[in-house]
Amino acid sequence: MNALQTNERPQIVIVGAGFGGLWAARVFKKAAVDVLLIDRNNYHTFLPLLYQVAAAELDPSQIGYPVRSIFREYDNVDFLMAEVKRIDPDNKLVHTAERAVPYDYLILATGSISTFFGIPGAAQHTFTMKSVEGGIALRNHILRIFEEASHAADPQIRRKKLTFVVIGGGPSGVEYAGALSELIRGPLSKDYQHLDMDTARVILVEGTQRLLGAFSDSLGVYTRARLEDMQIEVRLGALVSSVTAESVTLNDGTTIGTETAVWTAGVGGEGIGKRSGLDLMTNGTLKVQPSLQLPGFDDIYVIGDLAAFEEEDGRFLPMLAPVAMQQGEHAARNIHRQINAETVEDFEYVDKGSMAVIGRNAAVAQIGTHAFTGYLAWLIWLVVHLVQLIGFRNRLFVLLNWAWTYLFFERMVRIIISDKVKEN
Ligand SMILES: Cc1cc2nc3c(=O)[nH]c(=O)nc-3n(C[C@H](O)[C@H](O)[C@H](O)COP(=O)(O)OP(=O)(O)OC[C@H]3O[C@@H](n4cnc5c(N)ncnc54)[C@H](O)[C@@H]3O)c2cc1C
Repeated sequence: MNALQTNERPQIVIVGAGFGGLWAARVFKKAAVDVLLIDRNNYHTFLPLLYQVAAAELDPSQIGYPVRSIFREYDNVDFLMAEVKRIDPDNKLVHTAERAVPYDYLILATGSISTFFGIPGAAQHTFTMKSVEGGIALRNHILRIFEEASHAADPQIRRKKLTFVVIGGGPSGVEYAGALSELIRGPLSKDYQHLDMDTARVILVEGTQRLLGAFSDSLGVYTRARLEDMQIEVRLGALVSSVTAESVTLNDGTTIGTETAVWTAGVGGEGIGKRSGLDLMTNGTLKVQPSLQLPGFDDIYVIGDLAAFEEEDGRFLPMLAPVAMQQGEHAARNIHRQINAETVEDFEYVDKGSMAVIGRNAAVAQIGTHAFTGYLAWLIWLVVHLVQLIGFRNRLFVLLNWAWTYLFFERMVRIIISDKVKEN
């Protein structure tokens, strides 16, 4: 028997404290419902700045915020740190490893994971940027490889160590390639003065004929030119056919010797749908009704990256933070409507624009039909990301870090932190 049937307050379970889950939970402030927010981490991750953690620019704590702190003022929101294994929609249960949590209404917001299109070696030998742990691992690897290169006597080995391949020319690939190049040409070239940094290569590999496919053509062209100014080799129309620990091979047969391949080329829905035996889209997302409800289950909403939301023109909404935030709020409002025996409403996305940063003083922004590049776009990017960060302290420290980087061409976070505990 559920809470509705016993006249208790409705129990709303939200799985995922990312952009979608947080924005949904906030709508329930002071509502006569009990909300349980579940996440495997005790913090929210601001993914748009994760690449800066991986490029030694920001400390991980500056892009994470404890979930319990966010909901201190909410009497009706509780948090459970747990990995959700699957859901059982027929019995209205969410299964974690330790317990089965009942719900009256459920919001699934577990986001996305990297997908590798079955490319041999890609899953095993590439770094991904989908979690704080992944960002730290990549940062440690980059810093470690410079230590190794600095003592490599064989020029061929040195060259391989100093070759970095970023796979995927969307916003994440562009942003990371730019940040990595600035790290290498700036602070690392000062730290490793005996290393010939002209031999260091950052290669951005993109399967289509242009960068930033979701932006207008002119912005893709501008981005390529700016990246090339930053000594980044851009390879368009190049599909990766295999990856090993020491190379990336392209479909034209070229093999690039490298110990660093960064994968930003494919994302799909997190596996909760698959683990629960639900009908999936080919990329693992869950197709939702216009109201964001899961077909056949009016008490389950799916939002954010996990949701496949088809617009009237037949296109699906992109995996972006504003989509997740707006869907989170909409799903929560629809649950209110259901509780009040009102009709649920269809979701409509309000597109406020897209942005990607390339490097110092260079970014692209598409706001409606207006396209911005260069310093103005870079300033818009800085302000928007700073405002969206959660927590005053995080905003302040990120701003300080950015100012330091900008003024002194330095990076604040350059220590290699081992994941092994040492006694001394
Ligand atoms: C590197 C990177 C850069 C990006 N840059 C931008 C950008 O500049 N602008 C933009 O708009 N978007 C950007 N995005 C996309 C944006 O971050 C996502 O669209 C957005 O985070 C989706 O929100 P969400 O709530 O669906 O999922 P997420 O924000 O990913 O949250 C999912 C949450 O679910 C939790 N979770 C997952 N599985 C489980 C489980 N089984 N059990 C318990 N908890 C679980 C996770 O820990 C996480 O907290 C970027 C993404 C990445 C990876």
